[in-house]
Amino acid sequence: MKIMTDDILSKSLLTREDLVYLLTTKEDKEKHALFRKAYQVKKQHCGNVVYLRGLIELSNICRKDCNYCGIRKSNDKVERYTLKDENVIDMAMYAWRRDFGSIVIQSGERTDKVFVDGLTNLIKTLREKTDNLLGITLSCGEQDMETYREWFDAGAHRYLLRVETTSEELFRKIHPDNEFHRFEDRFRALENLRKIGFQAGTGVMIGLPGQTVENLADDLLFFKSFDVDMIGMGPYIQHSDTPMGKWKAPLLKPAERLELSLRMIALARIMLKDVNIASSTALQALDPDGRIKAILAGANVFMPNMTPKIFADNYHLYEGKPAVRDNAAEIVKELELRLKGLGETIGYGKWGDSKHFFNRVIKN
Ligand code: SAM
Repeated sequence: MKIMTDDILSKSLLTREDLVYLLTTKEDKEKHALFRKAYQVKKQHCGNVVYLRGLIELSNICRKDCNYCGIRKSNDKVERYTLKDENVIDMAMYAWRRDFGSIVIQSGERTDKVFVDGLTNLIKTLREKTDNLLGITLSCGEQDMETYREWFDAGAHRYLLRVETTSEELFRKIHPDNEFHRFEDRFRALENLRKIGFQAGTGVMIGLPGQTVENLADDLLFFKSFDVDMIGMGPYIQHSDTPMGKWKAPLLKPAERLELSLRMIALARIMLKDVNIASSTALQALDPDGRIKAILAGANVFMPNMTPKIFADNYHLYEGKPAVRDNAAEIVKELELRLKGLGETIGYGKWGDSKHFFNRVIKN
């Protein structure tokens, strides 16, 4: 029997109304049709392969005070750390020896010279030690043009900066009102990353209190109009030591937030086709199988956490962050087995760059 989802998905461009329909339809048949289509688009445009990024949480020191984030500046319950260079090099070389192909270095937002120069040197060292063969993605927040350029010139080539939401009204609710948290600055930073030549990725949190499905439809339309190369988005999860963790506003149930996140991934895949989409860690906090479900909804990047447990325990952005095993190789083996059952392989030794980036650069 023909269903409405099939009609919508046969269109070449999805409207805001279409997206709202696909984000909210309750019919199982319609949901399955959406996920089936997204997975088919992933296989057609990105292949039967999932790429790895060993995730290194470089520092939990942050100058920002985002109302949702566990490592916000004002949370004085957090024991602050910055990994030593030798720790980062050990982790990156572990990823390298195991053929992960790439790492992601993520950090609280720091713009101090020690941090900026330290990261520049680390990127150079890691590239030298791996004959320029290890891919490096950064996710270290808003920086000025000079800093982005310095990190790019040092050898990082992909950057993930979530805009968190494209609704200015919602953005203002979930951030303090000061010069460190300006809606327009976040978008300007994303533009700057693109100008410098980074493969630029963005994303949003899904299931924020006060967020509507229309907001989420607008987020997807923004990804399309900005022509992003990569997407990293996931469910919002409360942290009790944050202002939003104490809000009384109604929140979708965990299963609903998971479902909505998977639909967002599926729709992003259908609309943007050849971009990289990460299966984010927060999905696993809601469901032990959340990251595999994301691959079946169209994600093609998996990020095993490499940060040793003693540090990762202090990089708590939200509650229920998956326990980090010291042995990322074990997680990858497990993933490999699961993927095999789906007819997927792991892109060992590959950077797994965004195909969209190259298509975009050639087009322009
Ligand atoms: N400081 C960098 C930045 O601002 O892009 C990167 C680190 S920041 C902790 C990484 C991401 O964590 C944010 O972009 C946000 O989307 C996510 N995050 C923070 N708190 C969260 C929460 N409570 N639930 C889900 N995701 C959260």
